Amino acid sequence: MFWRFFSFIGCQLVGALAGWSLVSSLHIPVDSLLGVLVGVMLCSLGWVLVDLSRGAHLLHWMRLGDTSDVAMRTGLWGEVSSRVRRLIRAKEQLTRDTQAQLQDFLSAFQASPNGVILLDADGQIEWFNKTAAAHFGLDADRDLLQQIGNLVRDPGFANYFASHSYTGEITMPGRQSTPSRPVILSVNLHPYGEGRLLLLSRDVTALDQAEAMRRDFVANVSHEIRTPLTVLGGFVETLQTLPLSEVERERYLALMAQQAERMQTLVSDLLILSRLEGSPLPGTSGCLSMPALMRQLEQDGHALSAVLNPNVDHLHKMIFGAFLDAELVGSPNELLSAMSNLMGNAIRYTPPAGEIRVKAILLADGRAEFSVSDTGPGIAPEHIPRLTERFYRVDRSRSRDTGGTGLGLAIVKHVAQRHGADLKIESTPGKGSTFTLVFPSSRVKLPL
Ligand code: ADP
Repeated sequence: MFWRFFSFIGCQLVGALAGWSLVSSLHIPVDSLLGVLVGVMLCSLGWVLVDLSRGAHLLHWMRLGDTSDVAMRTGLWGEVSSRVRRLIRAKEQLTRDTQAQLQDFLSAFQASPNGVILLDADGQIEWFNKTAAAHFGLDADRDLLQQIGNLVRDPGFANYFASHSYTGEITMPGRQSTPSRPVILSVNLHPYGEGRLLLLSRDVTALDQAEAMRRDFVANVSHEIRTPLTVLGGFVETLQTLPLSEVERERYLALMAQQAERMQTLVSDLLILSRLEGSPLPGTSGCLSMPALMRQLEQDGHALSAVLNPNVDHLHKMIFGAFLDAELVGSPNELLSAMSNLMGNAIRYTPPAGEIRVKAILLADGRAEFSVSDTGPGIAPEHIPRLTERFYRVDRSRSRDTGGTGLGLAIVKHVAQRHGADLKIESTPGKGSTFTLVFPSSRVKLPL
């Protein structure tokens, strides 16, 4: 401002001086005061014109918005131009920072395993992440700024969206849901800003299935326990109300003992399963000697066959071959329980006098294979994938008659998984079945 004032005054002084000297030196016949005045006016006009042109130049520079350099460097307009440039630069930096922050937020939303959709106050889609695109079948090129209500047409969602009370959450089928592969989404809306909504979606298919499995499991256990309990209750009532002979009493008590034993077996299998699910994976400190295991299975097998076949002529023929001289590394109890289950099944499902072969061998690649083959009824192919499900039985009455709980193969599968082993089931209806456990070489300890 200081320089501007002095330049203006200086300019007028120069004008005055020039006017006066011109009038005096050229002997122009006018009053020298008039010459001074004309000189001042002309110089002031020149100063204003130069100033206006600098102002216009600044205005043009601002209109162009190119802040790579200042419009001019000197004078008031120079200072205005450099201050404007600094302000614009600061604003640009702020915009860049805000955009980077926004990008960070959007990247975080993008990385979220949940679906995220941002809706404006009219329910139009402003942004969504990839998970939401998959959940609702959205396309970024096609569906931005579309009404969410037009794209997600599930009636449950439509009611929830229209209710304007977004306290809870709803479940609805996902876009990729099919009857054979259902996809269940949990969706909730959260109001934010001025009438905007944040829509979050979560794939709860696995949770839903786990919940359904838990319900089925509880129902199955209750059913399995209720049946022997009802039978027991009936016998107790009969014993209490009917005058029975000693022989009859003995028979009823034997039947009651059978039902109690059935419940005990069921509870014991349930406990084994829950222990398998709840305990840490078996380490490498425990070992099971295969020859000792085979001897134990042989003993138990003959005993079970004798219990199931009172007629000694109809005992099963058992062949124990290839005693692998090695130890299996893992939990001896779990391994014994799995192999006894396979052996027990073979005896229970194979008709009297049938043949059972048990063998343990070392494979060429160092893995160990334990298998039990029988000449029983075999299993139709459609049942095989489901045999390891809890309480899945091909033949319910045969399973119950022989003291089965429907949990044996579920236990075997768990034990196998915990030891990194594979359970293979091969069966031909009418001919027999072979159940094989293949243990990785890391679980096989050969004698030194
Ligand atoms: P269960 O206690 O009923 O034997 P498992 O889980 O051990 O339960 O077996 C599941 C079903 O698989 C059995 O109910 C039976 O139908 C079938 N199964 C298992 N082992 C054999 C086998 N060796 N031969 C024929 N069927 C078998």
